[in-house]
Amino acid sequence: MEQKLKLWFTEHQTEDYGITFRVNHVYESEQTEFQRLEMVETDEFGTMLLLDGMVMTTDRDEFVYHEMVAHVPLFTHPNPKSVLVVGGGDGGVIREVLKHPSVEKAVLVEIDGKVIEYSKKYLPNIAGGLDDARVEVIVGDGFMHIAEAVNEYDVIMVDSTEPVGPAVNLFTKGFYSGISKALKEDGIFVAQSDNPWFTPELIRDVQRDVKEIFPITKLYIANVPTYPSGLWTFTIGSKKHDPLAVAPERFHEIETKYYTPELHTAAFALPKFVKDLTI
Ligand code: SAM
Repeated sequence: MEQKLKLWFTEHQTEDYGITFRVNHVYESEQTEFQRLEMVETDEFGTMLLLDGMVMTTDRDEFVYHEMVAHVPLFTHPNPKSVLVVGGGDGGVIREVLKHPSVEKAVLVEIDGKVIEYSKKYLPNIAGGLDDARVEVIVGDGFMHIAEAVNEYDVIMVDSTEPVGPAVNLFTKGFYSGISKALKEDGIFVAQSDNPWFTPELIRDVQRDVKEIFPITKLYIANVPTYPSGLWTFTIGSKKHDPLAVAPERFHEIETKYYTPELHTAAFALPKFVKDLTI
């Protein structure tokens, strides 16, 4: 039997815990202006984008996160036309945003052009929407873009890396205040807010800060096997529309592999130890 190359990569999710993948090919490995970028081929999850040694997205399980970041706010808003994605250089959230016919303009602000370049080259199923006519790609700092935007967007999604390096400002109360200013009077925003097993304090802090700015603030969850603990959270802040009060007729047909109208509601049913982080 052909001897498989035993090259293993471990993402150390805490000092004492990690997730390990067999890697059978390394496509790219470089230090960009902002972070360490690797694009590899894994047996279990297919092509995988890593930034600073952390799994960002994989061909096999990317749909969970990208669908849940996009469709919960976009079905909650009655008529989303202008959308902003901060980060998200792999293109997965933009691909999902484009499934909503009401969206006329989707702006992506990604700080690292190399993420866009390599995602287009090695993750075409994820990055394919970045060249759509409705999409404007800006290579820049999302924090600065938000600081300058006023009353511009119906929905803003923050698809950033962990609060380290270039993303550290994207988890601050000042940033959330800027998001509120950049949103229209009935705008909605969602940010990935990490996991309750290893970063409970982050979830607690984000919920506290967002609650002080948005009248409707909630947490919802999804299962992302390649993210730390597999239990991922999303924080939603809304000026007017409640994600748990979406009229059934709003759920128009879209092609998904994880999101469903039933799951839209069920995702907000939290385990007790997670719910306690939102109080
Ligand atoms: N889904 C992943 C997660 O939950 O960790 C995030 C994937 S996406 C590739 C994260 C992107 O955020 C990276 O490409 C990174 O370059 C970008 N990013 C980090 N800080 C940023 C900033 N200040 N402005 C814009 N993009 C930023």
